[in-house]
Amino acid sequence: MFVFNSITDYHHQLKSGTTSCLQAVNHFLSRIKEKAHLNAFVEVYEKEALAKAAELDAKRNAGEPLKKLHGVVIAIKDVICYKDHSVTAASAILKGFNSLYTASALQYLLNEDAIIIGNCNCDEFAMGSTNENSSYGKVLNALDETKVPGGSSGGSAVAVQAGMCMLSLGSDTGGSVRQPADFCGIIGLKPGYGRISRYGLLAYASSFDQIGIFGTHVPDVALLLQIMSQPDKMDSTMDKTGPLPAFENPEPTPLRYCLFSQVMDHPSLDPEIRDNINALAEKLETEGNTVTRLDFEWLDYIVPAYYVLTTAEASSNLSRYDGVRYGHRSEKATEDLDAFYRNNRSEGFGMEVKRRIMLGTFVLSTGYYDAYYSKAQKIRRLLTEKITEIFEGYDAILMPTVPSTAMSIGQHDKDPVEMYLADIFTVFANLTGIPGISLPLFSHSNNMPFGLQVMTNKQEELPLLHIADRLMQQYKPVRAL
Ligand code: GLN
Repeated sequence: MFVFNSITDYHHQLKSGTTSCLQAVNHFLSRIKEKAHLNAFVEVYEKEALAKAAELDAKRNAGEPLKKLHGVVIAIKDVICYKDHSVTAASAILKGFNSLYTASALQYLLNEDAIIIGNCNCDEFAMGSTNENSSYGKVLNALDETKVPGGSSGGSAVAVQAGMCMLSLGSDTGGSVRQPADFCGIIGLKPGYGRISRYGLLAYASSFDQIGIFGTHVPDVALLLQIMSQPDKMDSTMDKTGPLPAFENPEPTPLRYCLFSQVMDHPSLDPEIRDNINALAEKLETEGNTVTRLDFEWLDYIVPAYYVLTTAEASSNLSRYDGVRYGHRSEKATEDLDAFYRNNRSEGFGMEVKRRIMLGTFVLSTGYYDAYYSKAQKIRRLLTEKITEIFEGYDAILMPTVPSTAMSIGQHDKDPVEMYLADIFTVFANLTGIPGISLPLFSHSNNMPFGLQVMTNKQEELPLLHIADRLMQQYKPVRAL
């Protein structure tokens, strides 16, 4: 039987002949079939993945050296373009649409001989926290099928959680990688803004969106990040510092961590999550690190600022889906252009997407722009300044990833605002552009996992991954399925 531990271990097995890429792909394909009811995949590229595996086995057997991701089986979120494969953002408005080109980040993985096994279900246009807003239906959490996997990258998270691939890609605009990683008991990394090219990532809110990585092993996640962080002239917002150097663990030195008092005392925070994180902070201190509680009085502003700014950007980004050149076109007859757009968009978009387009249009409208959009921009600016100040004195911020463990399916159906408020701990990193990771370090008495979120300064993904690796090795993580 094929067992995946890490890329390094897999490559050792391939070199010693104890396994093959074909065996690996067959293993994941049968796992995908066995767990099909979880609804994690939109499409499985069965034939293609098998053909690529056979090709790689032949290359290796002919003595060719292995590329960095030789035979590594990866799933992608249905918002990442892959030439000649369908991409729909789980929306009816894009049903049947095939990508005309491949996202740069994905191309970098393919160049290193990764095998893409399929694309994964998600919330429509990456808007949501439970993966219930999908035109393909909801995704189930493999640890408890009455619970949501989180969102919006729920399918990508479950694909890793339930052992249907080695690693997967999601996108994180306000927590969509870290939050499902927390709910599913796996690692979820959101790199800093601009670290990975967004070319070929369907836009939700362009000044927030980043491709993120799900995995079970920090060095694997680091390797994918290193490969995907190569420069790309197609994305002018990319960080100009160039690709990340290779991941290797330096000698551990004592670190200066901080926690925000308002976060740890927040009424929405599950007391058991709070106690576990406090206990971990104490352990870190006994090991020679410092953990300081800081005052952070802006906590209550960050969710409103996030929802004003992202919906504003979304209302503009999603205006391209009009059914004229591509996408859903209504069959209702009309002679009037406005009605034509209205029919296409009313039928093509789901409830949550419509709500956000309307909200975004409202906050940008004359008379309200200054009251909402400008004010939210000011908050964003303030947070960015605050971040600079914090990282002058501290190496990393510790925070819970989510205030609670995975919710029950249908729990937040009636009240979208309640759902938005649950993003309170993840949107901070997107508003400020810093990297963040969720590590599956804890298990709740309700038997669900939850994570520790660690954030570092801009461009400090490598120190973040070093800290993450150390924490994962030191504190026995909850194992994925
Ligand atoms: N839950 C957040 C939202 O609905 C995050 C989405 C995301 O990161 N794509 O906006």
